[in-house]
Amino acid sequence: MINIEPIGVVHTEFKNPHEVKVSRQGAVIEIYPQYSPALHRLGEHSHIWVLGWFHQSVRNVLRVNPRINPDLPEYGVFGLRSPIRPNPIGLTCTRLDAIKDNLLYVQRLDFIDGTPIIDIKPYYEQDIIFSPRTPYIKPREEAMLEEIMIKEALYHHQEQCPDMLLGVKMCLAAERELGQLTQPDVKVWVTGAPCLADVVQGLTRARLSYPRRFHYQESDRTTETRWTKGSTSLVVKIKPGLDLTAVKDQPLAQLLDIETH
Ligand SMILES: [Zn+2]
Repeated sequence: MINIEPIGVVHTEFKNPHEVKVSRQGAVIEIYPQYSPALHRLGEHSHIWVLGWFHQSVRNVLRVNPRINPDLPEYGVFGLRSPIRPNPIGLTCTRLDAIKDNLLYVQRLDFIDGTPIIDIKPYYEQDIIFSPRTPYIKPREEAMLEEIMIKEALYHHQEQCPDMLLGVKMCLAAERELGQLTQPDVKVWVTGAPCLADVVQGLTRARLSYPRRFHYQESDRTTETRWTKGSTSLVVKIKPGLDLTAVKDQPLAQLLDIETH
């Protein structure tokens, strides 16, 4: 017999799972007053794990198609983060901006309004595995892929600077040609600003050694990424004279010069 009581509830503008935009969503977690002593010193952490209960979810289905691309083959639900599972516990990492009384102000929480919260735990440095092996579950819509990349880039780089958005666009262009950028045979050379290098490294999980997949040359004159995968090579450059502050809503073709060899 297991007895789980909600310790709080999510307040957000997102009322159903299809609306959730993970890269933009600010949310408030209300912790019920009887649990507020458990928040003592939580504010020393910038990031927290939030465990929620997917109260609208189905519990008796054990295999599903990935939600971000239903065209892909099924997975057992333990191999996905689908809300559909025998015990519909949601797990998400979020940035904790502020705590006021029993309210937690967080960023990028992918739970809908009214989701019961069952636990909060701090996120520690040792929670990170920088380059795990993961299956390639490519979203059906490229906009969704961009959304996921922005979320990852923000987690890694921690600021939404113009180079962060440019790095996302460059990785998006490379992914179109090469597929999953975290594959061990994808190598990348970055020339440009440190912020660009940081973002590309964060999205590719390419390390400087073991194996060597990441190379960087700082430059304030050149902004380009060069990629190889087997015998394919690709150069992605910013178009000359482009205003970096307008990167976000530019289609790739108007922003980047892409050469494949
Ligand atoms: Zn930056």
